[in-house]
Amino acid sequence: MTTLRVIQGDITRQTVDAIVNAANTSLLGGGGVDRAIHRAAGPQLLTECRTLHGCPTGDAKLTKGYRLPAPYVIHTVGPVWRNGNHGEPDLLASCYRRSLELAAAYNLSSIAFPNISTGVYGYPKDKAALVAVNSVNLFLKESSSLQEIRFVCFDMDNFTLYQHLLPQST
Ligand code: ADP
Repeated sequence: MTTLRVIQGDITRQTVDAIVNAANTSLLGGGGVDRAIHRAAGPQLLTECRTLHGCPTGDAKLTKGYRLPAPYVIHTVGPVWRNGNHGEPDLLASCYRRSLELAAAYNLSSIAFPNISTGVYGYPKDKAALVAVNSVNLFLKESSSLQEIRFVCFDMDNFTLYQHLLPQST
């Protein structure tokens, strides 16, 4: 049985097996949550990211967490929102699925997601929240080795949206 939780807060402070980073295709650093994760993890994270040679949009790659409370970081690359007709929903769904597949492959029991693509990448928050929750629920129909999946909402808009989609999970 997997518990879904919604919290408001900073993903760098989550004590889970893996936190997910909303990275860019270079994996060499960006703004927003990516910057916060690199700052908290320390410079060794960037050193390991350099060995990965980037990541395609919709895919995910795993590194260690270094100075973070979480032992692993799963770096995924969300789509930039254009108008919704450029494969954005499928790519965003793939970020969640690939991250969960990686977590399962490494036998991790807990994972925390930020609201991928809803910052600089401009994905409408309501649409992104639906994709996130649907993708996670779809994954859980096939595999339930994870004990906890946590949605970490940084801003109140996202927190409210997720609370409505996942009542009783805060
Ligand atoms: P993207 O480029 O995928 O849009 P951003 O980092 O710009 O990535 O934003 C993704 C989401 O992460 C946004 O909803 C933003 O509010 C949130 N965010 C920013 N900093 C943090 C943090 N420290 N912890 C959790 N979420 C964060």
